[in-house]
Amino acid sequence: MAKRKALFLDRDGVINVDHGYVGRVEDFEFVEGILELIREAEAEGYLPIVVTNQSGIGRGYYSEADFEKVTAHMLEKMQEAGIGIGREQVFFCPHAPEERCACRKPQPGMFLEAARRFDLELPASWMIGDKATDIEAAEAAGVGHRALVPPDQALQWKELNGF
Ligand SMILES: [Mg+2]
Repeated sequence: MAKRKALFLDRDGVINVDHGYVGRVEDFEFVEGILELIREAEAEGYLPIVVTNQSGIGRGYYSEADFEKVTAHMLEKMQEAGIGIGREQVFFCPHAPEERCACRKPQPGMFLEAARRFDLELPASWMIGDKATDIEAAEAAGVGHRALVPPDQALQWKELNGF
């Protein structure tokens, strides 16, 4: 079976407006245009994958259960918008920076785990991030296409994809 290509997405600042350590559903606000972008990419064969640093857990600002509540809300809204995505497509790093883990971006751990789980073709995949560390992590993992976008801005897949 052919390997699948992925659309990797950072969460805060790309999927939702980055209000800083978003740990409550009330603070989760989708960035304009992002649901349409994901749907278009999916229609072109990209598997949506979320890769998000959540050091708010490691720092004790909110719990993993809080994160899961926010994630369930995000996935429900995505599914309502016609996007095929489930919990297994969301990868998160709960560690604080001083824990020196292998998953916190700019480390490539989450990308490599996703690639193993879904048999992804990383050189054909895309990453959208709003921080240099998102792009560094994707590059270290071998993700072939990378877009560094301004935080919280409306996005269009066709622009990113060079159509
Ligand atoms: Mg971000």
